[in-house]
Amino acid sequence: MAKFMAEPFKIKVVEPIAMKTQEQLAAAIEEAGYNTFLLKSKDVYIDLLTDSGTTAMSDNQWAGMMIGDEAYAGSGNFYNLEKTVQEIYGFKYVVPTHQGRGAENILSKICIKPGDYVPGNMYFTTTRAHQELAGATFEDVIIDEAHDSQLDHPFKGNIDLNKFQALIDRVGAERIPYICLAVTVNLAGGQPVSIQNMREVKQLADKHGIKVMFDATRCVENAFFIHEREEGYQDKSIAEILKEMFSYADGATMSGKKDCLVNIGGFLALNDDDLYQKATQLVVLYEGMPSYGGLAGRDMEAMARGIRESVDYYYIKHRIEQIRYLGEKLEEAGVPIVKPIGGHAIFLDARQFLPHIPQDQFPAQMLAAQLYKLSGVRSMERGIVSAGRNSQTGEHYFPKLELVRLTIPRRVYTYAHMDVVAEAVIELYKKRDTIPGLKMVYEPPVLRFFTARFEPVK
Ligand SMILES: *Cc1c(COP(=O)(O)O)cnc(C)c1O
Repeated sequence: MAKFMAEPFKIKVVEPIAMKTQEQLAAAIEEAGYNTFLLKSKDVYIDLLTDSGTTAMSDNQWAGMMIGDEAYAGSGNFYNLEKTVQEIYGFKYVVPTHQGRGAENILSKICIKPGDYVPGNMYFTTTRAHQELAGATFEDVIIDEAHDSQLDHPFKGNIDLNKFQALIDRVGAERIPYICLAVTVNLAGGQPVSIQNMREVKQLADKHGIKVMFDATRCVENAFFIHEREEGYQDKSIAEILKEMFSYADGATMSGKKDCLVNIGGFLALNDDDLYQKATQLVVLYEGMPSYGGLAGRDMEAMARGIRESVDYYYIKHRIEQIRYLGEKLEEAGVPIVKPIGGHAIFLDARQFLPHIPQDQFPAQMLAAQLYKLSGVRSMERGIVSAGRNSQTGEHYFPKLELVRLTIPRRVYTYAHMDVVAEAVIELYKKRDTIPGLKMVYEPPVLRFFTARFEPVK
């Protein structure tokens, strides 16, 4: 067997991408103020900004789009989605939403009361924001290893049961409506949770009457890592592992834009009758009827079909191995990356890549800009620019991790594209001493990473 699995699909439709000259790339990044969020998609050669909603759908999913049942109520596509989630994930109830954050909003509103605490394995931006909006305080209970970018650990997304227990002891179980367990942990670098940890979290939570809600967005990637790394799971199928994972959950929020292989969509899955009733009352207000939740019938059909495709062993094996291929190429050339290589992206460690640039001259921002300028590859800064400022003192937050994220869309690019990316990063690494820092010349008041503008330091 080859070390890296070739594509388990062939190409039927192609989308040409722009080939740009060095001059055009330089002009485009200049015009975008050295911010890859401000580049136009038509100027990008290989787009690794995000894996959210950027999936290539299959012929089977596109065929499903043609049988969209666009009835206002009781669409046949909803019943197919419901049946699929029941069969594949094992939940009783499904409430569709326009994307993951729609489900997070509803879950937070039906479960949280002001003054509550919600523990989780590292935060995700929208998830935590909805918990806080509903009046809860978020408490990070991930294992300490997750915060060290160079530490190799097979399940860096695990919950530290002692931290969870300590929170229960400190605030009381009645103020913890649920624990939010993300599988995998996006902000830790796509790091998985072991099935043993899920089992133990569920036991501890049950003992205290606390619910366990999964952020299931990347559950298939997590299942693959369990198959690969956890003893006793090598002979189990991805579908069997998923079923067991969700047997330790009372409910889940899902962004269909990731592991359900669609461009838009999401849902809230639940087992509890009472919570489901409350969710259906709210979904009408925020999303739409409980049988469409902000989605067209065709979108629900594509998501149902995507869920079935996503549990195919070869689909997920190829995805993980393609990312590993890129990561190992970079590692062999000595490029500093976050370890171990996770489920959806490679993270360049800009602090080690550009040690001569102080953090307040935005090394990761500049690295992302230089990568685009050299090769047309678009990536994303995850460092001091994304962290923002302390609203009290006005000072920058100085996060420990100063990273550039190369996120791989599902089924979109080939190994040849990964070679282009690797070669460009390695070339930049060789001439890293010549790369200057940046100064910020425009800064918006909130979420500055989307629209801030920069110029190179002279
Ligand atoms: C993308 C994502 C979400 C939010 O989903 P949207 O569909 O973008 O609203 C939540 N959790 C994780 C881990 C994600 O990656």
